[in-house]
Amino acid sequence: MKQNNESFGQHELKDLARRIAKERIAPNAVERDLKCVFPWDAVRILGETGLLSVGVSEHYGGVGGGRTSFASVAREISRACASTALVYVSHVIAAKGIETAGSEAATKKWLPEMLKGQCLGAFAVHEPGCGSNAGAIATTAQRDGDNYVVNGSKFFITSAGEADIYLVLVRTDPEKGPKGISTLIIEKDSPGLSFGSAEDKMGLKSTSSREMFFTDCRVPVGNLIGDEGGGMQVIGKAVVGWGFFGAAGISAGIARSAVEISIRHATERIIAGQPIAVHQGVQFLISDMILGTEATEALLVACAERADSSPDSAALNGFKAKLFASETAVEVTNKAIQVLGGHGYCRDYIVERLFRDARGLTVHFKTSEWLRQDIAKAALDL
Ligand SMILES: Cc1cc2nc3c(=O)[nH]c(=O)nc-3n(C[C@H](O)[C@H](O)[C@H](O)COP(=O)(O)OP(=O)(O)OC[C@H]3O[C@@H](n4cnc5c(N)ncnc54)[C@H](O)[C@@H]3O)c2cc1C
Repeated sequence: MKQNNESFGQHELKDLARRIAKERIAPNAVERDLKCVFPWDAVRILGETGLLSVGVSEHYGGVGGGRTSFASVAREISRACASTALVYVSHVIAAKGIETAGSEAATKKWLPEMLKGQCLGAFAVHEPGCGSNAGAIATTAQRDGDNYVVNGSKFFITSAGEADIYLVLVRTDPEKGPKGISTLIIEKDSPGLSFGSAEDKMGLKSTSSREMFFTDCRVPVGNLIGDEGGGMQVIGKAVVGWGFFGAAGISAGIARSAVEISIRHATERIIAGQPIAVHQGVQFLISDMILGTEATEALLVACAERADSSPDSAALNGFKAKLFASETAVEVTNKAIQVLGGHGYCRDYIVERLFRDARGLTVHFKTSEWLRQDIAKAALDL
């Protein structure tokens, strides 16, 4: 078992993640999905093996590595269980927020335990009235002595009710538009914070998506991450600058699993004495799936490398990687169901779960429509 402060190369990280995911996370994935069980067992394993600290610098006890490493670890975990991968990505987003913008006290307080998996993080931006537009949040945080008093709600938050701490976007000055938005770390047991019941989602079923309610929730001023009014920058760096690459990695992992299962099935399924793989119709499905998956993997690596070498380009590269990966994963898993025929429509054969999980990623982390608009606006200089 590697300790958190040892250095990993990018390939070592990927190989470690692949082995851990296959041997220790995949075996319970079906049951987690069926029973909507939060992947605490997997979180502990990722903490013990150092994988929760990917992307966090060695200065803070992480194993380092850029977005390329982070995306490849998310992909490997997702090949075993996309729900676990989403919990992982949400955790890393919270850790990156604290690392990049938190005070020395904040980094010392939360990062060491987060990296070991003893403190699970999540992020809470979305609200019923804001959709993918973070600038439209309504949750307020008013200064009162040494505390902020938070009122409002967050909707559809991954790991809500399970995670120990939340990177929460709040409005500290309603008069200042985007410059009146800040980021707070809010602990799960804070007085005034409560959680709704788990959403009954189509896929990603063990991620515990819940509403969060803040009613005069008192949060110490020391929990401010970044400057007051600098919340959009914090979210920009952590969610957009890193999270989108993790999201793309999740989709790439789902697509790769669908390809592998389909190839295996096409060679093993015998009809009238022949494997279905001999039919051109099945071959066409499989070749399209392979090309879509390889194109996703190549684009993801290219975008992550560009973002690592030029962090100002991270947002646009993340949008491209996430949009392409999430939409391709839906197409690939849809084709996988076709390759498996009626079996593909049944739970025992996994691809129906892959399809359900893939679908969620076209909505989360900004919808595809927003991403298309963002990419076009950047090209058109609008
Ligand atoms: C599985 C899952 C996990 C999630 N986890 C988290 C989490 O951990 N933290 C968090 O903060 N959020 C989380 N979310 C919320 C997610 O970020 C939002 O669902 C997403 O931003 C879309 O918002 P919405 O659901 O309100 O859709 P809406 O904004 O209501 O969108 C509905 C439709 O309208 C379109 N639309 C809306 N506005 C525009 C526009 N301006 N231009 C073009 N089209 C538009 C959309 O593209 C979409 O087709 C999660 C969501 C899912 C599905």
